[in-house]
Amino acid sequence: MKTTNQKPYSFSKLYCNLFGHNYMVSKKITYHVKEYTCTNCKHELTTSGDGNLVELCPKFREINDILSRVHKKKTERLSRTVISPTLYRMTS
Ligand SMILES: [Zn+2]
Repeated sequence: MKTTNQKPYSFSKLYCNLFGHNYMVSKKITYHVKEYTCTNCKHELTTSGDGNLVELCPKFREINDILSRVHKKKTERLSRTVISPTLYRMTS
């Protein structure tokens, strides 16, 4: 009897334990803060306030959510003020 149907999740974890996680950027929050997901075991990391990588716990998820909203507003406001005068000059 073959036992091929082992849990793939635990195998991924074992792989990560042996070779290290393979993190990919899953979400860009701000220029400095990003969220990372391991392509093997789906383990998640994020950049903390002091620039270190920490586990993405619900607390950090909430902080990132707020951060991304603030960042979006900021960049929207910036692009509006930068684009409008040049557009005005180009059309006149
Ligand atoms: Zn992993």
